[in-house]
Amino acid sequence: MDYLPIFLNVKGKNCLVVGGGEVALRKSRLLVQAGALVTIVAPELDPAFAGLAGIQHIPERFKHGHLDGSLLVIAATNDDDTNETVSREAKLRNIPVNVVDNPAQCSFIVPSILDRSPIMVAFSSGGASPVLTRMLRGKLETLVPQGYSKLATFSARFRQSVKTHVINPAKRRIFWENVLEGPIAEKVLSGDEKSAETMLLSMLEKESTGEQKSIGEVFLVGAGPGDPDLLTFKALRLMQKADVVLYDNLVSKPILEMTRRDAQRIFVGKMRGNHTLPQEGINDLLVRLALEGKRVLRLKGGDPFIFGRGGEEIEKLAEHKISFQVVPGITAASGVSTYAGIPLTHRDYAQSCIFVTGHLKDNSMDLDWEMLARPKQTIVVYMGLQGLEMLCAKLIQHGLPGSTPAAIVQQGTTPNQRVVCGTLDNLSNNTEVATLHAPTLIIIGGVVSLRKKLTWFQP
Ligand code: SAH
Repeated sequence: MDYLPIFLNVKGKNCLVVGGGEVALRKSRLLVQAGALVTIVAPELDPAFAGLAGIQHIPERFKHGHLDGSLLVIAATNDDDTNETVSREAKLRNIPVNVVDNPAQCSFIVPSILDRSPIMVAFSSGGASPVLTRMLRGKLETLVPQGYSKLATFSARFRQSVKTHVINPAKRRIFWENVLEGPIAEKVLSGDEKSAETMLLSMLEKESTGEQKSIGEVFLVGAGPGDPDLLTFKALRLMQKADVVLYDNLVSKPILEMTRRDAQRIFVGKMRGNHTLPQEGINDLLVRLALEGKRVLRLKGGDPFIFGRGGEEIEKLAEHKISFQVVPGITAASGVSTYAGIPLTHRDYAQSCIFVTGHLKDNSMDLDWEMLARPKQTIVVYMGLQGLEMLCAKLIQHGLPGSTPAAIVQQGTTPNQRVVCGTLDNLSNNTEVATLHAPTLIIIGGVVSLRKKLTWFQP
């Protein structure tokens, strides 16, 4: 280990910054954020310093006397000689010194930080590769939710009373793990601290009476159209937390692989036309697993609330007072059209866009054809392949020109993506259509013609 990592309390303490440029400004801002009294020594200040409250400026060149009473000093001038003098003088007085970008002259270094105050993660390569530490920080930035600030503050509020009620340290650790990994933490992260508080207090009470049993929860998560890179941070976090995963055909294999290795995976989709589980069965299963105390992930293709019956699944949970949350995903219309090079709206071609389901019921489609067959509108049809012929015919019948461009996209955003293009007149006669594999999305409207220019994804 080249350096000792410590977190220093600089509140109300004098800290010196030598230099008046952009780098000095960044360092000064950091010190101010940590509550330091900052003095800047520099003949001239960058005008941007004006926005920084509570600093003192000495418009002079550096003299060793400026170090008097300083807890630490940062040299950030563009003059090597001055930086070196600051370093030497500070070291003579045993004042910790940092010379920006010059590890040899530093007695301490300023790490790259991930700030979820009061939680603070510091990264350092000991000056070897600041870019590498910044990249590492970027990675962690995506993994640690912003809400960890709130979560830490929330925990602090109850730290003492938990200590009083749960005396055994091992039990207390388990108690906190349950709080921080369970529904209480999720409530805090989603902004509902009031419910979180009620739940924590009730858990504490049960802990004292010895009747504590873990409570389950359900995450209804949109997994997007197929490409794992289109998952949200929140989706990924909950996927790695869940004990049981319920998934169906629309969830791509690479995405399923991103759930916790040891999680139980239950397939609840269609097998060759048979429902393995009817919707009712899925709703009940979610309730049963949650009541067993499990963290249950219901992973759905696209967005759970767009043609996903997500609403029905959580209705049942609400009835049983089971904690749940819903994570939106990129819906097929948005993800698939983008990967097919088709913008859903465009100044010249479409001012509105409409999503419909083309699901056939008793061999017909119950749609508002008048509304669909409007000019300058993009129509996106989910589950429409079987009714393609009827769909095109009806739209023409209700006034759309037969020459209106239309496309079918198979397994959009995945390595199996295929696009078949045509017009309302001829698309259903295209022999390629019969070779397409589910899921497929139909996009109709002038925007489809832009595909020639805008294609960027080549699976
Ligand atoms: N909740 C999902 C839609 C479920 S309905 C969402 O928001 O995307 C299922 C239909 O979605 C499929 O029949 C198909 O029309 C469409 N779909 C979903 N993923 C798709 C994909 N990768 N490529 C093409 N169509 C897709």
